[in-house]
Amino acid sequence: MENRELWASLNMDLEKHDDFLSGLPGVFTSLFLDRPNRPKAMGYFDMIVGDIHGIRVKELVALKEKGHKVFSTFCVYVPEEIIAAAGSACIGLCAGAQYTVPAGEKVLPRNMCPLVKSTMGFKLERICPYFQVSDWVIGETTCDGKKKAWELLNDYIPTYVMELPQKKKLADTAFWEHEVKEFAAFIEQETKVKLTGDNLAEGIRKINNKRAALKRLAALRKASPAPIHGLDVLLINQLAFFDDPERFAGQVNSLCDELEERIERKEGIAAENAPRILITGTPQPIPAWKIHALIERAGGVVVGEETCTGERYYKDLTEPAEAADQMLSNIAKRPLNVNCACFTPNTGRLEDIVTMANDLHADGVIDFTLQFCQPYSVESYTVGKELDQQNIPHLKLESDFSEEDQGQLKTRIDAFLEMLK
Ligand code: SF4
Ligand code: SF4
Repeated sequence: MENRELWASLNMDLEKHDDFLSGLPGVFTSLFLDRPNRPKAMGYFDMIVGDIHGIRVKELVALKEKGHKVFSTFCVYVPEEIIAAAGSACIGLCAGAQYTVPAGEKVLPRNMCPLVKSTMGFKLERICPYFQVSDWVIGETTCDGKKKAWELLNDYIPTYVMELPQKKKLADTAFWEHEVKEFAAFIEQETKVKLTGDNLAEGIRKINNKRAALKRLAALRKASPAPIHGLDVLLINQLAFFDDPERFAGQVNSLCDELEERIERKEGIAAENAPRILITGTPQPIPAWKIHALIERAGGVVVGEETCTGERYYKDLTEPAEAADQMLSNIAKRPLNVNCACFTPNTGRLEDIVTMANDLHADGVIDFTLQFCQPYSVESYTVGKELDQQNIPHLKLESDFSEEDQGQLKTRIDAFLEMLK
């Protein structure tokens, strides 16, 4: 099936979709393809972006034709192992485009996080084939913006909401385990697939493999000179939420093999003395590439992301178990190690940032918050205090998905990198 035929069959607004996609090839070429010395194995990920609304969407349609379902998620807390166990697809939809923000603002307040507005706009405008092919959205009660947005989104697509605790005490972890088991029952009911020890073990294996490959890639960024641009790794982290998990893990491992050879030869993409930056803060969903691009254009190199489009997504694996019930308990346990600002207190995040900065030999930390994101912008104060105590230079940036503040951000990033040199 040709792409246009596919999109029409998904009830997309073809005119708006053309307009939305028209800028992508130029931006992608200048930000990614034109940079010299990229690893050859990036070719696979470039190819996926080159047909971002084609190849994978066709696979999802084919999956549905075989009777499986597609579930879309917006948070790393949603247990994708359970969806994989049922033979269905889990697609992370965190939207990062400015294009759909005005549409989102038709139903949501303007002074709200752009991630939520962009998400809503994608559905209202019917320009995201992943949204269109989805049977369900799986939301969560992480921040107030998302929590209330699910109620509105449910008018356009069935939305199931998982309730997240806000603390990590014993009662909270028991509550979350119950929530995960209820979710498992919902998935059984929707997919008509009984979850067993065998299929859960397979779901855990698949998703663990994907996370292990991303962890391997992250560890290679400790090398100096840096063997890969941070922007390339950000792209891979973003695609981790879309692609087929097994194929994706294979491709990430091939890239790691190539990078290991580069490290052996002491070959890098930046000079050995290029300032090494760790990013912390809110997720940067596709196609939010602005901050990484500005840092690397200014001569720095991003060596890690303490974000959900980075380390938080893959740092912990699910422990295997013998019985199905214990597997579900372990699936619930894993994300509770994710230190999201939606939790209180969230001191584990401070430890994560400092550990990552030291392990990755970062010269400085950039704390990036999306505008109007209260949990992360409030927590910025604590992050800054901790980094001061640890004598780690840091810079706080706040932005949205638009291009309007590029000049201002560039000035601040240039000055920060200059100070680190
Ligand atoms: S930042 Fe928090 S709410 Fe957002 S994806 Fe990560 S865990 Fe979920
Ligand atoms: S970036 Fe902040 S406000 Fe936006 S969805 Fe995530 S936690 Fe909520």
